[in-house]
Amino acid sequence: MEENSNFIKTIMKEDLESGKHKDIVTRFPPEPNGYLHIGHAKSIVINFGLADEFGGKTNLRFDDTNPLKEDQEYVDSIKEDVQWLGYEWDNLLFASNYFDEMYKKAILLIKKNLAYVDDLSADEIREYRGTLSEPGKESPYRGRSAEENLDLFERMHAGEFKNGEKVLRAKIDMASPNINLRDPVIYRISHATHHNTGDKWCIYPMYAFAHPLEDAIEGVTHSLCTTEFEDQRPLYDWVIEKCEMESTPQQIEFGRLNLTNTVMSKRKLKQLVEEGFVDGWDDPRLPTVSGLRRKGYTPESIREFVMAAGVSKGFSTVDEQMLEHYVREDLKLKSPRTMGVLRPLKVVITNYPEGEVEYLDAEINPENPEMGMRKIPFSHEIYVEQDDFMENPPKKYFRLFPGNEVRLKHAYFIKCNEVIKDEAGNVVELHCTYDPETKSGSGFTGRKVKGTLHWVEASNAIPAEFRLYEPLIRDEDLKENESEDRTFLDFVNKNSLEIQNGFIEPNMEEAKPQDKFQFFRHGYFNVDPKHSTEGKPVFNRIVSLKSSFKL
Ligand code: ATP
Ligand code: MG
Ligand code: MG
Repeated sequence: MEENSNFIKTIMKEDLESGKHKDIVTRFPPEPNGYLHIGHAKSIVINFGLADEFGGKTNLRFDDTNPLKEDQEYVDSIKEDVQWLGYEWDNLLFASNYFDEMYKKAILLIKKNLAYVDDLSADEIREYRGTLSEPGKESPYRGRSAEENLDLFERMHAGEFKNGEKVLRAKIDMASPNINLRDPVIYRISHATHHNTGDKWCIYPMYAFAHPLEDAIEGVTHSLCTTEFEDQRPLYDWVIEKCEMESTPQQIEFGRLNLTNTVMSKRKLKQLVEEGFVDGWDDPRLPTVSGLRRKGYTPESIREFVMAAGVSKGFSTVDEQMLEHYVREDLKLKSPRTMGVLRPLKVVITNYPEGEVEYLDAEINPENPEMGMRKIPFSHEIYVEQDDFMENPPKKYFRLFPGNEVRLKHAYFIKCNEVIKDEAGNVVELHCTYDPETKSGSGFTGRKVKGTLHWVEASNAIPAEFRLYEPLIRDEDLKENESEDRTFLDFVNKNSLEIQNGFIEPNMEEAKPQDKFQFFRHGYFNVDPKHSTEGKPVFNRIVSLKSSFKL
């Protein structure tokens, strides 16, 4: 991880050197209420990556203190994503396993006269809390005795009250300049079945109370979170101290990662999924880890990207093109090159003997010769792309047009002699001749052509579907138009998915879901695990070949 930008690493190093800690223990604490996104990947890379560097431990801890939003599906997907990113947790833990201990700590606070049961409604509590410029007002129930509070809290626990009727609040300081310290709610009533504890509980701890306890119970040394929790740090420390926790984790904040041209919060992602804008949490247009995986991103590229984006405190919105840069870099040497024709146009090579097929040699990856060679058939009929032919081309068009000669990648020069049209006047076929002298690799220098086209031999070609993507949501659209009555859902890009049918080389018969290829001129593609069928693979374009992005 980058040396100078990583202030967290510096703190850990000092803590080991000073003897404050013998080992580093971190945790990644997702709430199982959605799938992970690239922002979570940053947190994963930081938590697991830093602990690894110091030979420490990292727990995967599900922060499942809110029974209503959580689901086993999310738990499973999060585990899969963390492992796919390349990390193994030391312990798999659930915050809900600590409910008994948290309950005891709440009672301890009550006994110490540091917590009280409040009957104010949620709205009243908000109102009484005050604002940055005016102090809050104390609740009329703040003065309850410890005995009364113990009795009421026990009755909350026993299920005597309805949701929202009472809460337990920490008794700190209603005049504190830090609003988080104005008697925060630490327990609330929720008559709901929990995915782990079932109906055992009808009171649940609030995040601000639960999180520091979870960290302390597990002996986490450095509790890394994003900067929106900075103002909660005094409360975090208060809970640890007043609950008399043995271990004292240190909360350290880092900047959230944001990407251009997408939405990141789980709430918004969930809306896109549930309202059918995409075909699931793993839709290749989403910045979810599973979406990026299905699009064709590699774990390496995501890790590299996150590290390059840096661990600084600053809130950063990173250009999505930087993410694309890292996957190109990663796939450049790893992925086989191949040819795929997206919108096919048949070409008959009139002087090539009908019924004959020859096999041409091509490198699998010219930038990585160790990958070896492949065989490509060539015959009387091939496909090129409709876009690679124009009947009346503009100047500087070097592809096929009547009378022009081009190079077929790995094969021969062909010359366009005749254009065949249907009754409606659409071009349906080209008749060309090839020149055997010009065979690729033969060293032919007799004449030059300016255009090189990709192609696929017709009789052996495998049909394939190609999916090309644009951003699902563009920042510029959002910025200009989002208002009270128009949400981000009104600006979903209608052209974010384009489906093309075409053909691929027959040697790709063995391609399996998640295999990645570089298609000549089109970019990097991944075999889609969801929509591919036997005999017809579906390819997701990961990225095009070039970009204007510079690091
Ligand atoms: P969201 O706000 O997108 O719904 P969240 O913060 O509610 O996400 P959690 O499940 O609570 O999601 O997150 C688990 C961990 O991942 C937390 O420590 C959180 O700080 C971190 N995290 C979440 N989003 C980002 C982000 N964009 N950049 C860096 N870390 C993040
Ligand atoms: Mg959260
Ligand atoms: Mg959230």
